[in-house]
Amino acid sequence: MKELRIAIVGFGKIARDQHVPAIKAVPGVKLAAIASRNASLSGVPHFTTLDALLREGPAIDAVALCTPPQVRHAQAVAALAARKHVMLEKPPGATVAEIAPLLATARESGLTLFATWHSRFAPAVEPLRRLLEGCRISAASIIWKEDVRVWHPGQAWIFEPGGLGVFDPGINALSILTRVLPQPLFVTKAELDFPSNRAAPIAAELELTDVAGLPIHAIFDFRQTGPQSWDIRFDTDKGPITLSSGGARLAVGDHVKVDAKDAEYPGLYQRFVELASEGLCDVDMAPQQLVADAFLIGRRRVVEAFED
Ligand code: NAP
Repeated sequence: MKELRIAIVGFGKIARDQHVPAIKAVPGVKLAAIASRNASLSGVPHFTTLDALLREGPAIDAVALCTPPQVRHAQAVAALAARKHVMLEKPPGATVAEIAPLLATARESGLTLFATWHSRFAPAVEPLRRLLEGCRISAASIIWKEDVRVWHPGQAWIFEPGGLGVFDPGINALSILTRVLPQPLFVTKAELDFPSNRAAPIAAELELTDVAGLPIHAIFDFRQTGPQSWDIRFDTDKGPITLSSGGARLAVGDHVKVDAKDAEYPGLYQRFVELASEGLCDVDMAPQQLVADAFLIGRRRVVEAFED
C-alpha cells in the first residue's frame, strides 16, 4: 500500500504534542509538509497558509486540520477541492450543519473525511462499551473538570464564538458517552456559565437522557485547580463502573479492569490510513449535536470575568 503523505495545518499545541509523534509512530503515513502562519519544524517543508501549500508545496495525499474549529471549514473545502483526504480535529466544526456539505463533497469525490474523536481511542473505552453491553444501567454521571490556564494557555479562540468554551474538553466526555451507550442521547436541561467578558461558557451543567429515560448528569468546569477530573460513572446491576483519567482507566467497583497508557492519536492515524486507503468517510456528529442542543436549551448565567 502507498504511504499516505500528510500535511499538518495549524501547528499549535495538539499538532506538536500528539500529531507529529503519532505520524512518526504509525506505519503507512508520513509527514510531508506543514502549513502554519508562525511555526515550522526542522526538516519538513513549511508554508504560511494551506493555499500556498496546495499551490506550491510537495505532493501530498491528505491534510490534518489542527486549527481551531472556527477556521477549519474553509480549509476543508480547499483541501477537498484539491482532492486531498481530510482529517478534522475535534470538534468537527464551529457549527453542526457545516459538516454535511463537506461530507457530500468527500463522498462524491471518493475522498476520506474523518471527523476525529480522539477520546474514543482511549484504551478503556472499547472495553467499557463491551462491558456495558452486558449490564442494566440505571444512571450515568460525568465529571469533567480541568484548569483552562494549564491546558489551554493563550488559546483566545476557545472563548470566542464557535470555540465552545468548556465544551472543548467536555465534548470529549460526550464523544465517549455516545460511543458506549447503545441508544441515542438527548439533552433535557442545561445551565451555562458565561464569564462576563467572554463569548463561550466556562462551566456547564447538563441533564441528558435516552428513549428509556436513563438519567445522565454532567458537570463541566474549566476553573478546576488541584487534581483534575475526567471521569464517567455508570450505576449498573453489576455495581458502579467508572471510566477515569479521560478513558485510560476502567474499574468495576474497586476492581481495576484497564489501566493503560494513552494511545489515542496513533489509533486515530491507523484509522485514517485505513479509511484513506479506500476513500471512506467516518463522521459522527452526535457529540457536537448534544453541545449545540445544550446551547439551544441552556439557561445562561453571567459569572465573574475570566482573565488568562
Ligand atoms: P492551539 O494551540 O491554539 O493551536 C491551533 C493552531 O491553529 C495555532 O497554533 C495556529 O497555528 C492555528 N490558528 C489559530 N487561529 C487561527 C486562525 N484564525 N486562522 C488560521 N490558523 C489559526 O490549539 P490546539 O490546542 O492545538 O487545538 C486545536 C484543535 O485541536 C482544537 O479544535 C482543539 O479542540 C483540538 N484538540 C486540542 C487538544 C489539546 O489538548 N490542546 C486535544 C485534542 C484536540 P499557526 O500559528 O501555526 O498558524
